[in-house]
Amino acid sequence: MIVDYHMHLRDERGGIAFTADAAERFVEWATARGVDEIGFTEHVYYFRETAEMWEVPYLSERCVFDLEDYCAAVLEAKRRGLPVKLGLEVDYVGDRQGRLTELIDPYPWDFLLGSVHWLDGVAVDMEPGVWGDSSVEEVWRRYFAAVVELASSGAVDVLAHLDLAKIFGRRPDAAIRSRLHEDAAEAIADSGVAIEISTAGLRKPVGELYPDPELLGACVRRGIGVTLASDAHEPHLVGEDFVLALAAARSAGCETVTVFDARQGRQEPLG
Ligand SMILES: [Zn+2]
Ligand SMILES: [Zn+2]
Repeated sequence: MIVDYHMHLRDERGGIAFTADAAERFVEWATARGVDEIGFTEHVYYFRETAEMWEVPYLSERCVFDLEDYCAAVLEAKRRGLPVKLGLEVDYVGDRQGRLTELIDPYPWDFLLGSVHWLDGVAVDMEPGVWGDSSVEEVWRRYFAAVVELASSGAVDVLAHLDLAKIFGRRPDAAIRSRLHEDAAEAIADSGVAIEISTAGLRKPVGELYPDPELLGACVRRGIGVTLASDAHEPHLVGEDFVLALAAARSAGCETVTVFDARQGRQEPLG
């Protein structure tokens, strides 16, 4: 089985398109690339139901759509018999995570994808962002502390782009990095959440899969479940570069993929 469990329900030009017809375009690309099942994971900050959470203009400006419409589009695609799952990309919001969970709880999610894009309201994946006033080592330490907190919160089922802090190619030295990788893997294993192998990093300045082989190996050794992810914001990116993601999974010793229904994960043979 091959899944792509990270994508944003958009039209061909990347504009929001919460319709079952738009979902069908993603399924067409999935089929063409040998992907058996896809999961939509729109950003949580696009929905007015979560408006009270956002103070940063980048987030509050986008907070204009209805969760009901998004869920209805994916559920209609399911009714048409398409191999789709209903998910959401949920941001780390620190001590307000419980409140965000309450706001999104009424909807029938198959899985929730957890992401750390922001540290204290400052972006990790934009420049200057957190890089403007913290050292590389500080950013990495804060970033992984947030990832571990999100995993342990019980708010999400899968962690997205696990080592996003490398996005611009800035990394602390190998010893510090290894320590952070091992400690994060240990805490994630304790939390029971899965991680994704994402091809999105190949399209970013770093030009690599998330997570890197050392971190992926540390996770797989501890029995952490794995999904595959493109982070497509346009249909033609579904399943892109999955040959590389599958090769990374296999060389890390991963033989199964985690499949979700109603926030319950199970293992299926990978491939
Ligand atoms: Zn993300
Ligand atoms: Zn995403």
